[in-house]
Amino acid sequence: MILAEPLSLAPLPWLDAPWQSVQAAVRTDRLGHALLITGPAGIGKRRFADLLAAALLCAQPTSDGLPCGTCEDCRLLAAGSHPDLARLVPDEDSKTREIKADQVRALCGSQAMTSSRGRRAVYCIAPAEAMNTVAANSLLKTLEEPAAATLWLLVSEAPGGLPATVRSRCQRLTLAVPPAEAALRWLNEQLAGKGDGARLLDIAHGAPLRALELAAEGQLEARTRCLQGLEAVSTGSTDPLAVAQAWQSLEPGLVLDWLAGWVSDRLRLGVDPGVKHLTNPDQRRALASIAPGLEPRQGHHYLRQIYAARAQATSTVNKQLLFESLLLRWAQLSRSA
Ligand SMILES: [Zn+2]
Repeated sequence: MILAEPLSLAPLPWLDAPWQSVQAAVRTDRLGHALLITGPAGIGKRRFADLLAAALLCAQPTSDGLPCGTCEDCRLLAAGSHPDLARLVPDEDSKTREIKADQVRALCGSQAMTSSRGRRAVYCIAPAEAMNTVAANSLLKTLEEPAAATLWLLVSEAPGGLPATVRSRCQRLTLAVPPAEAALRWLNEQLAGKGDGARLLDIAHGAPLRALELAAEGQLEARTRCLQGLEAVSTGSTDPLAVAQAWQSLEPGLVLDWLAGWVSDRLRLGVDPGVKHLTNPDQRRALASIAPGLEPRQGHHYLRQIYAARAQATSTVNKQLLFESLLLRWAQLSRSA
């Protein structure tokens, strides 16, 4: 679907250096017709793409190349209705969360039109790796013969999921996790006292936007409750079916991500109790003692089961059945020794 949400035009401070380098490319006409923006989740790749699109469509950008925020173009951008910007994302009700070929073709077709407001047309696809093979091949044809004054922005945290032929047609910009201090300063400003910035940032592996999301959605509390359920199943103090029922209210993809993180941390701690890197550093103590009977080989097999379920987690999956089967197996594994 094409996003009609307003664009956020506030620059993120830690992206200043990559912003300056892209601006230098714009000024010297070295920005090509396709830019692949990569980097970890939650650091502002999409915000960067939005800002770049806005800057290129703004009638009177500032000396830093930022959108002015007041011209007619900026007003249209802020309303999410600029005719020369199209942002393609997976359909909300899509079972597979794929971006399909007809969606890409519709954009490529619209490229034949000239920019309505005379500057250029910007197309953004995020996450680009959500394009299925046919969709990516449709895009490839367009990238091979780009129309004048068009820019394609592909946003991806997993660029390996894109065909090499598409990647090779793009300039690449890799954004990094910001320095901890800068991330914490920004996050604390956003939280305005509502949340423990340092802890959130730790859980989000330093990705500030991800940390802010965790705070905003009450996800941290849900995650704690979910882990307590997993612990209770491992000690046998709670019926797995009751925990599966309690997890019903949560989004399955999220629960499976958490579950994969906990189980992989548990396996790491089993090998080395002092292991430095954990996916869930804040839950080290709980994870070190969970499922004492877990045998490593079976644990890894279980982890693969979670990943497989994650790959298929869609809006139509039977959550109750999925959680029941995973938790019943977890109960067995926890006590198998
Ligand atoms: Zn403007």
